Amino acid sequence: MKNFSEIKSSYEKNILSTYGRYQVAFTHGKGCRLYDTEGREYIDFASGIGVNSVGHSHPEWMAAVCEQASKLTHVSNLYYTEPGAILAQRLCEISGMSGVFFCNSGAESVEGAIKIARKYSADKYGAGRHTIITLEESFHGRTMAALTATGQAKFHKHFHPFVEGFRYIPPNDFAALEAQVGDDICALLIEPVQGEGGVMPLCEEYVKKAADLCAKNDWLLICDEVQTGIGRTGDWFAFQGCGVKPDVVTFAKGIAGGLPLGGFIVSENLKNTLGAGDHGTTYGGNPLCCAAANAVLNIVEPILPKIKENGAYICDRIASMNLPHVSEIRGRGLMLGIKLQKIAHTEVVAQLLQAGLVALPAGSDVLRFLPPLVISREEIDAGLAILKKTVH
Ligand SMILES: *Cc1c(COP(=O)(O)O)cnc(C)c1O
Repeated sequence: MKNFSEIKSSYEKNILSTYGRYQVAFTHGKGCRLYDTEGREYIDFASGIGVNSVGHSHPEWMAAVCEQASKLTHVSNLYYTEPGAILAQRLCEISGMSGVFFCNSGAESVEGAIKIARKYSADKYGAGRHTIITLEESFHGRTMAALTATGQAKFHKHFHPFVEGFRYIPPNDFAALEAQVGDDICALLIEPVQGEGGVMPLCEEYVKKAADLCAKNDWLLICDEVQTGIGRTGDWFAFQGCGVKPDVVTFAKGIAGGLPLGGFIVSENLKNTLGAGDHGTTYGGNPLCCAAANAVLNIVEPILPKIKENGAYICDRIASMNLPHVSEIRGRGLMLGIKLQKIAHTEVVAQLLQAGLVALPAGSDVLRFLPPLVISREEIDAGLAILKKTVH
């Protein structure tokens, strides 16, 4: 199966059509460039939806993965392994928090966060105080509770009934949050920058006031940093850029540079909320994925300041192109949203791909860039040149 049409026809015959796929089959990548079955080259401004944070086939990442694969990839969470020990310690250090649970994906990390919030509240206050407030336009994953938490009706149709105990309020509306004060709430779940919903940063003032209200009412503040975490916004975690201290932080996408790893980190007061047998996963946090993540943290640490600089550079360059279809450029670090007008975002993404730039849609009218965090100025310029000649 060497060419595109053979690969595509196997997909059409054998894989459920849950995705509207773009007409390309990638074969390999190097740095921030991708190559397809027809020998075409692309600049990668998508990172496999924020996953390939150190680009493709990064030598240090590859060395760590190959070495670990040759020693031990999995033994289950019934035993101790060194890569997990190192990773958990580093995550506590960089987040300023106190305990980690590893799993395999973003949705699974959100499920765990929901469970710990419910248990914390039930232990302390008894039954009934279980409602979790989430925001409209949020995205928290596709499993049933994470899907229920997702504040977008378009993902909900077809799948009723849902898990009980979720309530949605508009983002950046503090009065709407204050109006929720009552005795059935256990947590507020937010993405510091709403990703899938359209790359919408929550305003700092709102996040601060929300964090204060949570503290006052003993609601847990859960930051879903599956997309924003691990350097994407130029801070290790986006909450650090907002000056708040959440109780639970989820992570996944970018942490292991392409291998499946997720999890959540908790503050000191939640360290003993989940005991032996309360929660689990078979291969979450296996030594292979943890070794990959340790390499990612080593690679990203020295370039954190560059992530903000490069993000600002991209925004400035796009603004200076004066593209008539662009009405707003927003985001944090290398998580950028370009709001489009009078042209469909999916059409722009398809045109860019055709022209050699891999980008993403978000929300209903946003072109999203999530380039590898290691992207160079040369690669940025090459990508932006394609944007300029394609969207005019
Ligand atoms: C992608 C995403 C998820 C879901 O992650 P999966 O790995 O696809 O389950 C959850 N929350 C946020 C904020 C995300 O961006």
